[in-house]
Amino acid sequence: MVQEFDVLVLGGGYAGLLAALRLGKRLAGKPFRVGLVDRNPYHTLVTELHRVAAGTASPTAVRIPFAKILKDKPVSFVRAEVHALDLRERRVDTSAGALHYKILLVALGGEAETYGIPGVAEHALSATALAPARLFRYRLEHNLARYAYTQDDAFRTVVIGGAGFTGVELAGELAFRAPDFREAFDLPDTEGGLRIFVAEATDRALPPFPEELGRYAARRLAERGVRFLFGSPFREVREEGVLLGDGTFLPARTVAWCGGVRAPEVLRRAGFPIQNGRIPVGNDLRVPGFEDVFAVGDVAFFVDEDLGPLPPTAQTAIQMGPQAAENAAALLTGGSVQPLRAKNRGAVATLGPQDAVGCLYGRYRIYGRLAFWTKRAIEMRYLAILRREAGWYTP
Ligand SMILES: Cc1cc2nc3c(=O)[nH]c(=O)nc-3n(C[C@H](O)[C@H](O)[C@H](O)COP(=O)(O)OP(=O)(O)OC[C@H]3O[C@@H](n4cnc5c(N)ncnc54)[C@H](O)[C@@H]3O)c2cc1C
Repeated sequence: MVQEFDVLVLGGGYAGLLAALRLGKRLAGKPFRVGLVDRNPYHTLVTELHRVAAGTASPTAVRIPFAKILKDKPVSFVRAEVHALDLRERRVDTSAGALHYKILLVALGGEAETYGIPGVAEHALSATALAPARLFRYRLEHNLARYAYTQDDAFRTVVIGGAGFTGVELAGELAFRAPDFREAFDLPDTEGGLRIFVAEATDRALPPFPEELGRYAARRLAERGVRFLFGSPFREVREEGVLLGDGTFLPARTVAWCGGVRAPEVLRRAGFPIQNGRIPVGNDLRVPGFEDVFAVGDVAFFVDEDLGPLPPTAQTAIQMGPQAAENAAALLTGGSVQPLRAKNRGAVATLGPQDAVGCLYGRYRIYGRLAFWTKRAIEMRYLAILRREAGWYTP
């Protein structure tokens, strides 16, 4: 069945959902049709997925049904997988049929950037969506159960590729759960039971942060048994373990890849320009050469005049989504588009429950419980923004 939309939003993550809600608000009562497409029937709180992967949060705690958020909103939700885009015909082919648009807002989020490292896609999991995060948890527990039969240390060894935000946060949650795992799976007392390695290509943790914060994170996690291998890029991942850059083979049956994100394959195939793995956008968030297409969130590569390239974070996505929506509404109603005025409020990385490290407004360094509760406040702020944009919804 062919469906037609004045504005079609692809992806209901941080950027796409806020964009759809803002479009619903701006175009309410006007003869325009807004559509939102997502493969899942729920909005995922991706920033919590390391907790699902480690088993410290349940999958139901990190998802909110679109049916609740969009109830009574002038936004049509289409649950479908996006298979292909025909930018000339202004058509999106999905598992629910062809969707036609006048204006397209692309917000499909990122997929793992594997840099072509052999075996990463086949044998490592990335917690970029709920399904792989849940699979990581079950793979880990399955492997720990197999340790009891084999006594092979590879089954109680986890290797995380990348000591950026996601890798460090995952290591922190796993280290916190290590005593539970030891008891539940009869792991030996040696080396804390669960063996956790973080292999990082550079010589430090949390590269976007000031060096001292990366050192703090590495020290705190090392105290909890996490072993950092700096200057150790993944060369290959095999079913039995990871081959590192210096030729060392690390036997491990559970491997996580946290090496960054890029625009998904479906967008690369569509013929968008690609820069640094993502779709370059102008300051009004439109893709150069495609006047009726906006790209927002992790898929977009945006260079701010003052801040430089914006990182692929939820913080960036929640600023881009509403601005792109305002601009799309302006195009439809004869208004003028405005540039994104990005703000850098800073970032906080958790190191397990009750500990974190962060840098706010590029200046203020925070550690420990203060940083942890600041992170919780950031998460609550997002839910408050969602509630405000949705008008009535109380998470
Ligand atoms: C474990 C983890 C922790 C993080 N912690 C932080 C943090 O503390 N702070 C921070 O600012 N950022 C953090 N990030 C980064 C942040 O989560 C992302 O930058 C953010 O999710 C990007 O938002 P988005 O809207 O672009 O994409 P997403 O939130 O990924 O949403 C994309 C949506 O598109 C849908 N979709 C994708 N492909 C298709 C398809 N083919 N068909 C249909 N639907 C599709 C997905 O189902 C999803 O709903 C973290 C990321 C991870 C993985």
